[in-house]
Amino acid sequence: RQAVWAGMRDVEPITADGTRITVMINAGLRDDVPMLNLTGADGIGLYRTEFQFLVSATLPQRERQTRLYREVLEAAGNRPVVFRTVDIGGDKALPYLNHDDGHGEENPAMGWRALRVALERGGLMKAQARALLEASAGRTLNVMFPMVSEPWEFDAAKAVFDQQLAWLKGQKKMLPEAIRYGAMLEVPALAEVLDILAPKLSFLSIGTNDLTQFLFAADRSNPKLAERYDWLSPSILRFLKRVMNNVAGYKVDVTVCGEMGGRRLEALALMGLGIRRLSITPVAVGPLKELIRKVNLPELTAQMDLWLANPPADMRSALTRWACEHGI
Ligand code: PEP
Ligand code: MG
Repeated sequence: RQAVWAGMRDVEPITADGTRITVMINAGLRDDVPMLNLTGADGIGLYRTEFQFLVSATLPQRERQTRLYREVLEAAGNRPVVFRTVDIGGDKALPYLNHDDGHGEENPAMGWRALRVALERGGLMKAQARALLEASAGRTLNVMFPMVSEPWEFDAAKAVFDQQLAWLKGQKKMLPEAIRYGAMLEVPALAEVLDILAPKLSFLSIGTNDLTQFLFAADRSNPKLAERYDWLSPSILRFLKRVMNNVAGYKVDVTVCGEMGGRRLEALALMGLGIRRLSITPVAVGPLKELIRKVNLPELTAQMDLWLANPPADMRSALTRWACEHGI
C-alpha cells in the first residue's frame, strides 16, 4: 500500500474546481517526522508534545524538550509544525506528576487534564513555553493549547509565553521570527464564545475525537460505545457548520485535526462544510489527496447545505451514493 500511495507524494491536493486544500499530518514522536517527506504533506498540523512525557520515566527537563522541538523543526524544514502544549492528565496520567489527591477521578476525560494541569502546575507550562520559544529562534513558532473551555484559559496560557518571551528578550537571546497562537476546539462550550476568542487567535484546530465524545457523552476509549454514534451524524455536522459560521468574520485558519479527517466520507463532509485544512494520520494522506482531486467543491457544498437543512435518514449511505454518482 505504501508503494501505491508513494505515487501521490508529489501530487498537489487541488480540487477539480481549483481549490488548494491543506493536508498536514499528526505526529508525536521524532520518528513520525520523516512521514512528512514520505507523504509530501504540507506540515505537521498537530504535534502532540505529551508523547515525550509519556515515554519518559521522569519529567523531561527543559533542555531535553528544547532539543526535541529543535530537531522536529529542523527535520520539517520550511514546512510548519503546530506544537500542542501538553495534554496530560486524565487517562494520560504521569506517574511522576502526582495527579492523585487520594480520590482518583471518575471521569478522567473530563477531569484534571491538558491546560487545566498546565495552568495549575505553572512550572511545567513555563518550562515548555521557554523550550518552544528557544527552539523556534529565527523561525515561526506555531503553538496551540488543548482543551480550552473558556477564553480566559487561552489568555492565561498565552501570558505564560509572553512572560517567557520578555525574559528571553531581556537576556538578548535570539527570538522566534513570528509566533502564531491557536486554540483547540474540543470542548463544546467554546463554540459559543468564539466571538470573544477568535480575535486573539491565528488559528483554531478542531479536535473531533474529544469534541465528539463530549457532544454525545460517549467515552471515546470505550469499545462498547464505538458504534453508538457516527461522525456523519447531523448533530456533529451542524455543530461544525455553526463553528465555521461563528468564525467566518475573523482572520482565523480553521483546521480539523481529529481522526475524522483521515476517513474518506468524513473528509468529504468536512470539505462540504467549508473546511479547507486537515491534519490527519500519515497513512491517510495519499488516499485523501486522490479524493480531493476528484471533488467539485461548489457542487459538494450545495449538496451539504441541503443535507444540513434536511438530514437524510442515513447520511453515510447518502454521501456514498453521491460520491459514486460524482465519480469519487
Ligand atoms: C482530538 O481530541 O480530536 C485531538 C486531536 O486530540 P487527542 O486525540 O490528542 O485528544
Ligand atoms: Mg483531544
